[in-house]
Amino acid sequence: MVINKSSIFKWCNECNVPVLGKKCGCGSSEILIKISYPGDVRIVFEAESKNIDDIISKYYGSEARVKSKIILANKRGGYDKTNELIIDGIMVGVLSFDIVSRQHKFVPTARGEFYFTKRMKERVKEIPLPLSGFLKGKVFKWDKNILKRDYGIVKSAGKLLFIRKRESDYKIIDVVLNKEYCSKENSIKKMLDMNMNHLKKIESEAKIMLRSHIQKYPEMPVNVAFSGGKDSLVVLDIAESVLKNVDVYFVDTGFELAQTTEFVKSFGSKVDILKTSSDFLADFSKLGPPTKDNRWCSKRLKLDPIFNHIKKKYPEGCLTVGGKRALESFSRAKSMPEEKNPFVPCQISVYPILKWKAIDVFSYILMKKLKYNPLYDLGFDRVGCYMCPAQLEGDSLLVSKVSPELFKEWRNLLYKWAEKNNFSKKYINLGLWRWKELPKKMKELATDMNINTVSSLKKKK
Ligand SMILES: [Zn+2]
Repeated sequence: MVINKSSIFKWCNECNVPVLGKKCGCGSSEILIKISYPGDVRIVFEAESKNIDDIISKYYGSEARVKSKIILANKRGGYDKTNELIIDGIMVGVLSFDIVSRQHKFVPTARGEFYFTKRMKERVKEIPLPLSGFLKGKVFKWDKNILKRDYGIVKSAGKLLFIRKRESDYKIIDVVLNKEYCSKENSIKKMLDMNMNHLKKIESEAKIMLRSHIQKYPEMPVNVAFSGGKDSLVVLDIAESVLKNVDVYFVDTGFELAQTTEFVKSFGSKVDILKTSSDFLADFSKLGPPTKDNRWCSKRLKLDPIFNHIKKKYPEGCLTVGGKRALESFSRAKSMPEEKNPFVPCQISVYPILKWKAIDVFSYILMKKLKYNPLYDLGFDRVGCYMCPAQLEGDSLLVSKVSPELFKEWRNLLYKWAEKNNFSKKYINLGLWRWKELPKKMKELATDMNINTVSSLKKKK
C-alpha cells in the first residue's frame, strides 16, 4: 500500500467550497490542500457528520462544533477505517477507528489544531523556549499544565508551534503557518452551484462515452449492473437518459442489509433480482469464512448468478454498464473503460464513470436529486454484503448498530468456527478472520496481544 504518496485537493476560499473541476464557478483562484493518495474525497453524510461533530466537540468543547459545515473525508491506509477530514478548506486531522478499543480516535494536524484553537477563541500561550534552528521534531520540558489537551499550539520567538504532550515532556510536531482560513458559512447547495459546470461536463462526457460504446456494439442488448450503491445509481441514471429502456440486474447475495434490498425493490419490476443457488452455510463449514485473500464467496454468491442470468437472458451476449471507478481501490486503478468479463465471456462491461471521484458521484446524486440508499445517511461510505471480509471493522460497528440481529448471527457463526479451530473470540472481534495470511501489521498486533493465528498454531504443532 502506498502511504506517503500525496494528492492535491482544491478549495475556493471566496466561496468556502471544494473545487471539483478546473476552477470555481466564481472565477477566483483556488487554494491547494495536500491529502493522501489516491485522494478519493467524499462528502460526509448525516450520521457520520454527527459522529465527527460529537468527537470534535468532546475533545475541543462545544464552540468547536462543525456539524453545520461541509465535511469531506479522504480514506487512507491504516489498521482500519482511517479518514482525513477536510473542513473550511483545511485538512484538520485524521479520524481512525481503533480495532482494540472499538472507538474512534481523532488526531489533529497542525493547521487543524490551530483552526480549532481559533474557533474556540483560545489564547495561544507564549513560552520562551531555549531552542533554535530546525524546530520540528525537537523535545522540551515545560510546565505540565500548559496544554489542556494532548495536542496544542504555543508561541515561541514569534513562531506558532504545534506540540504534543508526552509522559514527561513535549514534542514539537510542526511549525504552524499562520494562514487565514475561511470561516464563511457554506452549504452543499452552494458547493453544487459553484461546481455546476464541472458536474455538467462530466455528465456529458459519461453520456458520450456510453453512446459510443452502444454504437460500437449495435446488436448487443444493454443492461446495468446495479449494486444498490452510489456508483451504480449514477450509471443507471446516465444509462436511462441515453437509452429509453434499459435492463437492470441486482445480485442479492443473501447478505444484504434490509435497507439495500428495500431500496432496490423501490425501483420496481425493471430490476431483475438474481439469487444464488449455492448453500453458503455448507460451503462455510467446509471452507471456513471467506477472506480478503480467498474470496470464495464472490464466485458462489455473485459471479455464478450473473453467469446464469446472462447466459439465459442474453445468449448472444450483452453490453453491461457498470459503476466501477479507478480511485475506489488499488486493484481497480488500472481498469480499462471497456472490459470483457473473464468469468462471463459474452458480457462486455463499460464504465462511464471510471475516472470520477467519490465526491463527483455524491455531488451528481445530490444535483439530480436521485433517491439513494439510506445506508449512506446512516454513516456507511460503501454498501455491500454485511459479512464481506473486505469490510473494515469501523463499518462492521455500523452494521452492529443498524442491524444488530444480522450482526449477531454472523458473529456467532464466526465464533463457532473459531472455537473449532483454536482461535479466540478476540481473533474474531479484532477482525483477524478476514485474512487467511495476516498482513505484517496485523500479525504484530496478534503477537502483542498474545492471540493465536494461523501461523502461530502451525508452529505449536
Ligand atoms: Zn468560488
